[in-house]
Amino acid sequence: MGNCKISGDPSLAFIVEDRYGHRISYLRVSITDRCNERCHYCMPAEEQTWLPKAEILSYEEILRVIRAGTRLGISKVRVTGGEPLTRKNALWFMEQLGQLEGIRDLGLSTNGSLLAKPGNQGHSLTVAECLKRSGVRTVNVSLDTLDRATYEKTTGRDFLPKVLRGIEAARAAEFESIKINTVLMRHRNEHELWDLVEFAREKNLLLRFIELMPVSTTQVLTEENFLSAAEARKLVEFRYGKLEPVPEFRTNGPASYYRIPGTDQKVGFISAMTNLHFCETCNKLRLTCEGKLRPCLGSHLEFDLRSVLRDPAMTDADVERFFLEVVERKPEQHDFRNQYQPGRRMIAIGG
Ligand code: SAM
Ligand code: SF4
Repeated sequence: MGNCKISGDPSLAFIVEDRYGHRISYLRVSITDRCNERCHYCMPAEEQTWLPKAEILSYEEILRVIRAGTRLGISKVRVTGGEPLTRKNALWFMEQLGQLEGIRDLGLSTNGSLLAKPGNQGHSLTVAECLKRSGVRTVNVSLDTLDRATYEKTTGRDFLPKVLRGIEAARAAEFESIKINTVLMRHRNEHELWDLVEFAREKNLLLRFIELMPVSTTQVLTEENFLSAAEARKLVEFRYGKLEPVPEFRTNGPASYYRIPGTDQKVGFISAMTNLHFCETCNKLRLTCEGKLRPCLGSHLEFDLRSVLRDPAMTDADVERFFLEVVERKPEQHDFRNQYQPGRRMIAIGG
């Protein structure tokens, strides 16, 4: 198994560690490359094509991969896309996931537009309530702006009212946590950071500001539209005073959290581009919807697990071996700062 270490642990069945000491416990699973929105940084206008259905992993195939992962110490799964709730029977799939032994933390990333719709259980529950009943603990909702026109300009859809209803539905469903993910964009939402902080405080949501990453196409990230987390922090501090770091507060991901002075509110910053230590605590692998296992979002490395899954001669032990080989190939850090040329759209990788 080369350099990849597997060790026993009293609380986990295994800990899988790569050659740089990253302990892999988290699998982010994209179940579709389709979406009902068209965020320009994720799905540029010139690249709006979908994968044929036969190329997408079936739910059974995805469950087989996740089961193999749990046998190797994966305990957290976050389902994403595209927009995961647009895939047929997504709620059924979440229910299956909620029953898998070994998963202690199940989450979903969504644009929020479908959370308030009726779910599939006799239509008396919302989608959010069905997710909660399936065992979903955390829901991450993308929200870059509270201005309807800016929302439409950014996502290609006039969905802000639906998304706000979705957030209310998620609050009513009482998830353990609801996070709001805001991509920072100069000239687009830098003047709204305070409003987003107030909104999150009022609704008791955990707000995180995310630096724009150079995925999808080369036009996504430019000198002109990049707003760093440090600048965003200064903008927030201009109104609220010096933010207090809360290093002990972690949510199983790469955000650094700060407290707004004089309040209990924490705000996170995900600074993939400017924090040189960003990758040190990475604990993640990604499964794309067509079955590529990726050791890192910011690297072109990806490995075709689908051909293993669809080969009748391959056993679950082969799936596990494949998994470990990908862990072994995990890079020390992402390549985003090295003149990175995007190879794939974010929507096709799974954010
Ligand atoms: N549709 C769901 C949503 O919007 O949350 C899940 C998939 S989306 C690809 C996951 C996350 O990736 C979103 O929070 C989105 O803002 C983020 N994202 C997409 N493209 C990005 C980029 N170029 N830079 C930074 N974040 C990006
Ligand atoms: Fe769709 Fe989410 Fe990508 Fe926007 S960020 S296009 S909502 S997948």
